[in-house]
This record gives sequence, C-alpha cells and structure tokens, in this order.
Amino acid sequence: MRAAALRDRLDGDLVLPDEGGFALARQLQNTEYDTIEPYAVAYCASEEDVALCVRYARERGVRLHVRGGGHSFNGWSTGEGLVVDLSRMNHVVAEGPVVRLGAGVQSLDALDALRTQGRQIVTGTFPTVAAGGFLTGGGIGWQTRKFGLGSDRVAAARVVLADGRTVRCSPTEEPDLYWASRGGGGGTFGVVTEFEVRSIDAPALTGFETLWAYDDAVEVLTAWQEWAVDGPDELGTSLVVLPGMFGPGGRPVVRVWGVHLGPDEALRDGLDELAERAGCKPLSRTVAVRGGYAEVMHEALCGSKSVSQCRRTGTGPEAEGHRHPYTRQTYRLTARAATRPESAALLDAWDPALDAAGQERYLLCMALGGAASRVPSGATAYAHRDARFLVGYQFACREAGADPAAPARLTSLADRAADALTPLACGSYINFPSSRVGEDWETEYFGANRTRLRAVKRAYDPEDFFRHAQSISRAPTTEVDS
Ligand SMILES: Cc1cc2nc3c(=O)[nH]c(=O)nc-3n(C[C@H](O)[C@H](O)[C@H](O)COP(=O)(O)OP(=O)(O)OC[C@H]3O[C@@H](n4cnc5c(N)ncnc54)[C@H](O)[C@@H]3O)c2cc1C
Repeated sequence: MRAAALRDRLDGDLVLPDEGGFALARQLQNTEYDTIEPYAVAYCASEEDVALCVRYARERGVRLHVRGGGHSFNGWSTGEGLVVDLSRMNHVVAEGPVVRLGAGVQSLDALDALRTQGRQIVTGTFPTVAAGGFLTGGGIGWQTRKFGLGSDRVAAARVVLADGRTVRCSPTEEPDLYWASRGGGGGTFGVVTEFEVRSIDAPALTGFETLWAYDDAVEVLTAWQEWAVDGPDELGTSLVVLPGMFGPGGRPVVRVWGVHLGPDEALRDGLDELAERAGCKPLSRTVAVRGGYAEVMHEALCGSKSVSQCRRTGTGPEAEGHRHPYTRQTYRLTARAATRPESAALLDAWDPALDAAGQERYLLCMALGGAASRVPSGATAYAHRDARFLVGYQFACREAGADPAAPARLTSLADRAADALTPLACGSYINFPSSRVGEDWETEYFGANRTRLRAVKRAYDPEDFFRHAQSISRAPTTEVDS
C-alpha cells in the first residue's frame, strides 16, 4: 500500500485518498482547493513525525506541502504531494514571559489556553489562522500598533530542515534562519514545529464597532485612514466595506471595528473624533464592556460561539465556522492615508453597481504603523516597515462551480481593483497575496531583503525542496550575493 512504511512509523495518522476522512483531510479554508488530491495527508503528532515525512518525501521524490491552519489564499499549503499537517501540534505553554506555541495552534485556541496562564500574544483577526503561516509571514493584528507584528515577538523557533535535521534558531543559533523565519513566508525554508514568543502584558482591552451608511463611504474611508494613523498605538482597527447582504435594507455598509487598549473614555472621545473628521454620524456605535484580553478577542473573532463552535465546519461535531468560497483577491500595503479623491477611486473599484447575482465583494483595510514601523526594515525578513495600511479587495462567488463565467468575472474585478491600489502601494504582504501578482513579486513582498532571503534559501534548502508558487528563489539576485 502507498506510504505504508510511513504510516507504520508515525505517531500521528496518515490519510490516503481512498480512505474515509480524506475529503475532510484535504480541505483548506477556501473551498476552491477541495478538488486537489494530495498523495496523502499526514497528521503529525510530533517533531519526529515531521522529520519522518520530510525524509520519506525526499527519498521517494514526492513533493511536500506544509500546512498549519490551511488559510493560504493561493493554496500554497496543498498540492499533489504529501501534506504535512501540523494541527495536532498545538500546545500552548507559558513559561515566564515566553510562550511556547506548537506551530499548528490556531488563534482561538491560543487565546483560550492563555486565558488562565495570565499572558497573551499578538493574533490576527480570524480565529482559525494558525501560528505556522501567520508568524512565518509576518503576523498583523489589532495589537500590532502597540506590540509589533506577531513575528517581531518570536524569540526562537524549532525548524525541521530539508535534510531531516531539526535545529533551533534564535539570535544566537542559526541567526540567518531565525531572521528569515520572521516574515520571509512559510513553506520556504523548513517546517517550523514550535515558536517561542515573547508574550504581551495586556490584561484588558475594549472592543468596538461602528456601522456607517454606504452613502458616506468616501468620507468615512478618508477620515478613518487619517484617524488610524494619527491615533495612539493603543488603537487597533480595521475598516471593511461589506456588500448589501450585510447592510440595512440590503444596502452595502461600512464597518469600522477593532480594540482599544487604553482607557474607555479615550476610546469614546476617539470615536467622536472619527465622526467629526468624517462629517457624518454612524448608523450605530457599540463600545463593549472592557474585559479580559482573551474574552474580548474571542467575542470579536467568534461572537457568541463557543471555542468548539467557532472552529471550521467539519473539523468537530460542534464546529460551525464558515469556509470561504471561490475568491479572487488583490491586496497591497500602503504607506500613507488615502486622500479623498484616492478614497473615491478605491470605492469606485468596489462599485456595488457591478454586482452580479450570487457575487460578494469586500474592501478591507487594516491599520498598521506604530510599533511595527519602529523596527528597521532589515531587522527581520518582513521589509515594509513604512507601511501604514494593508488595503485590498476580495471578490467571491459561492456558486462558482455552477457558473462557468464566474472565475473570469471575478478575475476582471480583481484586476480593476489592483489598478486602483497601484498608485498608493509601497509593497505587498506575503500573507495576503493577490491572486495575480507582478513578475517581480519577490521585491513586492520583501524589498531589499530578498537578496538575503535568497542567500538563506541557498544555505538551508539548496535543492529547493520546500517550495510553492511564491516561495523565495535560491538563485543569486546580484553579483553581491553570488
Ligand atoms: C479569513 C482570513 C483572515 C486572515 N486574517 C489575517 C490577519 O488578521 N492578520 C494576518 O497577518 N493574516 C491574516 N490572514 C492571512 C494568514 O496569516 C495567512 O494566510 C497565513 O499564512 C495562514 O497561516 P495558516 O497556517 O493558517 O495557513 P496554511 O495555508 O496552512 O499556511 C500558509 C503558508 O505557510 C506555510 N506554513 C504553514 N505552517 C508552517 C510551518 N509550521 N512551518 C513552515 N511553513 C508553514 C504553508 O506552507 C503556506 O505556504 C488571514 C487569512 C484568511 C484566509
């Protein structure tokens, strides 16, 4: 039987294409990849399992795909080779100021586990994203302005390399690998099995949400961007323009939401100031009761669902977290707040008049800056320290399988949106890749850091064993590093 030698030696489980459980085992967050048939899916239970899989795949010439939480927009954590799934390597242990995280741990579980351990970590704004992809790519969340990127707080990591060895990397051990593992992108240098993260001391915070009429969208988007950049580091916020299905009376709606680490009075004043800058009032404004970090983030990420309910549908008896449909997206990092005409152009590319039946569209902005911008751009592989916002669009269709014209339609909307983003862009973020990227995507993602990243690739994975469509190349970039 295929892979019998591997199965016999794994502490975890191996699922083959003709076996029960394979339909679930091959899933990512996005349903688009459900048709890909991996060689097998290995649910690794230990670092030794990961090393076994790497050696097995190398010896047999099988491709290997590293999977944490399966949220890669472009499907980089699956393929026709062996999928190394890390979801069972999900421990969370606080040891003084450091938290040891299994690379497969999802945000919602890390928050929950740390609730009783008195410490917390920087997470993103989606509950089931795993540490493996989040931290290797950078890691942006509502705590980023105050405490930096998730990866800025990685003190060390354990990595299984292409030759099957396991190393610990830190500022003093394998420093180049340590540098590359913080923002150079997952699935490129090795399989991280565990991160050691400097935890944050943020016992309490306050969640908030305001909804605004779509007619005021240009003013709100312009005001929000200025407000978010000018605001204190204690403010973590996103803005999303939602399609009519989410707004009152079937109209699109603008949602500004986030968390505030400072006193509530300052948050209320700040929200008043946002309305003043926009010159209009929100349809609704909710400031939640100040609470423990884990509770507030859980409420923001999962609403009233329990931890078990918040998991991705299919992954547990109670799990009801939604999966994402066929999507075409375009995302860029921008270095300053958009002017009013630029906001109008961004919204024009989102234009609800372009809506086709069954199609969804989202314009998403996350505020950056603050502590993330106070780190030199060469200090970690994440280069774009000048970025103040992540801005982008998702165009989705739930019935793409039944509508042969849908993919081309969504692609053309994403291309149009990409044009609107270009004048503002200062780079791209590897964890929010666009469906279509320019030829020089390495520079887009990594700026000047790409040269060192290629050198690290050559040193640690000279045969390019760990690769996907946009993993760093091993070729020298210039005469300087050849
Ligand atoms: C709905 C949604 C919301 C998101 N929100 C945020 C957000 O708020 N902030 C933010 O910064 N990002 C966000 N992201 C992007 C997210 O951080 C990336 O997609 C991330 O790479 C996902 O990690 P994963 O392990 O869940 O995904 P996977 O698909 O499993 O992995 C993503 C990439 O990392 C590699 N990888 C995974 N685990 C490891 C490992 N242990 N060692 C080495 N490589 C590994 C994979 O091979 C793949 O290339 C969001 C994504 C989605 C779909």
